[in-house]
Amino acid sequence: MKTAVVTNIQRYSTHDGDGVRTTIFFKGCPLSCRWCHNPESQDFRKELFFYDNKCKNCGGCIPRCPSGANVLEEGKLCFDRSKCTGCGNCTDWCIYEARELAGKDYTAEQLVKEAKKDRIFYEQSGGGVTLSGGEVMSQDIEILEPLCRGLHREGLSVFIDTCGFAPYEKYEKILPYVDTFLYDIKAMDSAVHKEWTGVDNALILENLKKLSAAGANIYIRIPTIGGVNANEGFMQQVIAFLTENNIHPAQVNLLPYHNYGRNKYASLAKEYDDASMQVPSDEQMEQFKNMFINSGFTKTNIGG
Ligand code: SF4
Ligand code: SF4
Repeated sequence: MKTAVVTNIQRYSTHDGDGVRTTIFFKGCPLSCRWCHNPESQDFRKELFFYDNKCKNCGGCIPRCPSGANVLEEGKLCFDRSKCTGCGNCTDWCIYEARELAGKDYTAEQLVKEAKKDRIFYEQSGGGVTLSGGEVMSQDIEILEPLCRGLHREGLSVFIDTCGFAPYEKYEKILPYVDTFLYDIKAMDSAVHKEWTGVDNALILENLKKLSAAGANIYIRIPTIGGVNANEGFMQQVIAFLTENNIHPAQVNLLPYHNYGRNKYASLAKEYDDASMQVPSDEQMEQFKNMFINSGFTKTNIGG
């Protein structure tokens, strides 16, 4: 049976669409946005968080590792990440909780079962399930399609949180089961998009036009980052693109940048360069919101 790697199933979420939702974070993303606050979801493989500050150098993990990734050198535990396969053998043996595996396998059936546990909260709040990541649309369609169909058959609302960078045929296959797409726009200039996310935006914008023409319900989500796109010129470009292409999102959500994920980068031995990114001011966010509202996108809000 096919499985997908999931980093987290977050219950009672109120930031990933309407009402109270269960958000399933899939592992793996074709983009590498420099502001990403879920660095554990970028790589498609399982990865080990190693919390150096919690390690007591007891050596308990050393014999559990089939790859010899851990050694004691002068009483100090040294973890060689290049040898780690993400098997997870060592995590249960560290009583100091210095080790945590990012990524667990699930079948589509298991995920539907997990999501159903919170049905009562969805019914009370108008919520449902959000499939996120990483990039959910990068998952195998043989998982994605039965998952969306299974959730839909259970009568659960299905939201897809996507960067838009996937073959349109995949969107087409799940379209009948999806209530809303949370669709990111990060930069309108292709070179700028590539500089900050690693890929150009042609496919993303094309998919957005196609989804809109197919009648999908869309919330546009704009991560708003000082030093990247928190400026009037960019917001005006987005407004022009939506207007010219007759795209009528049900909502526009402006998401102010934050750097809460920075500690995760250290535990994964990844670099986080936030010197060139700033949190936009409340005044700027209000100004951008008003630009959208004044251009006819009346359901624009800050956050989402
Ligand atoms: S078992 Fe945990 S505390 Fe002990 S050396 Fe390994 S990581 Fe450090
Ligand atoms: S996850 Fe597996 S390979 Fe990596 S350090 Fe732990 S036991 Fe070794």
